[in-house]
Amino acid sequence: MKVDEDRFGVAEVARVEGRPIHVVRSKADAAKTLLVLAGIHGDEPGGLLAVPSILAAWDSASVRLVMVTPVNPVGAAKGTRVNGTGHDINRDFIRFATPEARAVRDEYDRVRPDFVISLHEGPQRGAFMFLNRHVIGAAALADALAAGGTVLATRDYFGRRLRTPGVAPVSPMTRVVWRAGALIGKMATITYSENRGVPEIVLEGSTRIEDEAARARPHVDLVAAVARVLK
Ligand SMILES: [Zn+2]
Repeated sequence: MKVDEDRFGVAEVARVEGRPIHVVRSKADAAKTLLVLAGIHGDEPGGLLAVPSILAAWDSASVRLVMVTPVNPVGAAKGTRVNGTGHDINRDFIRFATPEARAVRDEYDRVRPDFVISLHEGPQRGAFMFLNRHVIGAAALADALAAGGTVLATRDYFGRRLRTPGVAPVSPMTRVVWRAGALIGKMATITYSENRGVPEIVLEGSTRIEDEAARARPHVDLVAAVARVLK
């Protein structure tokens, strides 16, 4: 993949069925690290569409950007949620049975992020953010998305009403589901981060948007907004 080499380094950290997983790292020295995971579900292309714009818009000198893209290269090529062996990578953060989850874990260990954003999409109307318990100031981040022209969801993709549009804190019911999943060896990145004391936002853009720039917009704006508050 091509990046502005004055500002970013890019490395291939793994190859799955012949398809590379890249890590892009900003070069400027910085105290804080923001880890962005793009395309862990291959049938949610908005985050991957946003990658060039995220890099072009990146202007933080006080935060280091580290972006894994695509986390699921086979799924991205085939348009499938799962990887080439039928695994949902975003349930593999206990067992690490997949090379893709191991690549994310290795990068996580290497850079020790201060904040994680995972870029997803769902069928709901408008965009919203799942938050783990370490995320603070989410309402202001939702305001930043709205200011950029993103429509904020008033319900998540389960149909639950969001008290603050665009913001879905983890509910007690979701925590029960997380614990049950962990018992059978399934864990998503948001829980992996929570268990490490690291704030993570799972951004769910809307698959209902056809215009590519509009579809990428919440992903671009959220990365920039988190960089502003993280410094
Ligand atoms: Zn997803």
